[in-house]
Amino acid sequence: MIMVALLALLLGWVTGHALLFLLLVTFGYLVWHLYNLSRLRRWLRKAELGALPVSSGIWGSAFDGIYRLREGSLRRRKRLNRLLKRFYKLAAALPDATVMLGEHDIIEWYNKPAQKLLGLQPSADVGQYIGNLLRHPAFREYLDKGDGDEPIEIPSPEDENTILSVHLVSYGKNRRLLIARDITRLYRLEQMRRDFVADVSHELRTPLTVIAGYLESMADSAEELPGGWQRSVLLMEQQTRRMQHIVTDLLFLSRMENGVQSIGTEKVDVLALLTAIQEDAATLSGDNGHVIGLDVDPDLLIKGNYEELRSVFSNLIFNAVQYTPAGGKIQIRWRRTEQGARFDVHDSGQGIPAHHIPRLTERFYRIDVGRSREKGGTGLGLAIVKHVMNRYQGHLEIDSEIGKGSLFSCYFPAAVLASRVSQSLLKAGS
Ligand code: ADP
Repeated sequence: MIMVALLALLLGWVTGHALLFLLLVTFGYLVWHLYNLSRLRRWLRKAELGALPVSSGIWGSAFDGIYRLREGSLRRRKRLNRLLKRFYKLAAALPDATVMLGEHDIIEWYNKPAQKLLGLQPSADVGQYIGNLLRHPAFREYLDKGDGDEPIEIPSPEDENTILSVHLVSYGKNRRLLIARDITRLYRLEQMRRDFVADVSHELRTPLTVIAGYLESMADSAEELPGGWQRSVLLMEQQTRRMQHIVTDLLFLSRMENGVQSIGTEKVDVLALLTAIQEDAATLSGDNGHVIGLDVDPDLLIKGNYEELRSVFSNLIFNAVQYTPAGGKIQIRWRRTEQGARFDVHDSGQGIPAHHIPRLTERFYRIDVGRSREKGGTGLGLAIVKHVMNRYQGHLEIDSEIGKGSLFSCYFPAAVLASRVSQSLLKAGS
């Protein structure tokens, strides 16, 4: 450029029109830049890289640099595209219904099984709010609750005989993945198991009542029995009573598992209930002389079912009596907490080895089967406690130290609690 400007100045000086020549050169230089700029714009607009525009000087190296940058970015974009296509193919091939949800749970993408299991239209439902398409109340509640740790089971909107396990998983910012799986077979098997246990228990009840009745009258007049028979009848009576307890507990569990009945709204007076159980526990302890303390918030009631709550409290308190050596201490507590309320049974027994604790709420799981049987245990007590607590949206926690004792705590959420309207308040109000 400097050379051209110098030549123009020389020509201008020779012809006496230096300014005119300088102006012409500047104009030409401007036109060259504009021409290259428009070439650059045209080239950048093309999706493909195409051939590098030929130019010299400053534009040549600019084109060269931009070409290399574009080449790198196009290569990266192609690689990402390939990856994305492969991901879509993979998600589409999944046998489970998969739905990608964007902000506000708007559907962004779904695979073929989602059309079949969730009744989504081929691509037409993209952009819709998932709650408008899956309207089952349990699903709407699950969706509103945020992130679900556990999947829920709902019937498919396409066919109510198909049972789906639906799980929402968060990923990225405000994004969720909905995964639905057909669990009809598993559900039916589980249903069959529940029905079988309930039917067998039900069928066993009547014959057992008859046998227990006869054995009881025989045991009452044991002295009239031939010598060798007295002990046998007594043992038969004890074992029949144990079987009756097992059948009652199994039926109780089945009723709760089927979960048709709601927990009810009866306001249960926890103080009165625990006082009655404390007396029964003292009778059960008998000569063992356990010291049973009661520390209860008298105004704190539970909205629910009396029998279910009695079962929870008595199972834990009677266990404490049965598994604590004579003279041991048992402390019962019922009080408010920040999140709701807590029921504790603390005993000074031998404690439970840590590896047993996670399994204690399984049916018929016992640390010492012989000891449990000897004490008339069914092995179903803690399973019942766990089930009832689930029904109340609460949970059971077990803490134990060998040689020191165990603490069984039931946590109840605020939603199932009520307060006693005290008599003085009622009088003041009237
Ligand atoms: P069981 O009818 O055998 O008492 P549960 O389901 O009530 O059945 O309890 C299961 C097992 O947990 C018991 O067999 C016992 O080994 C253990 N267990 C329960 N409560 C206590 C306790 N307070 N201290 C020590 N072990 C306990």
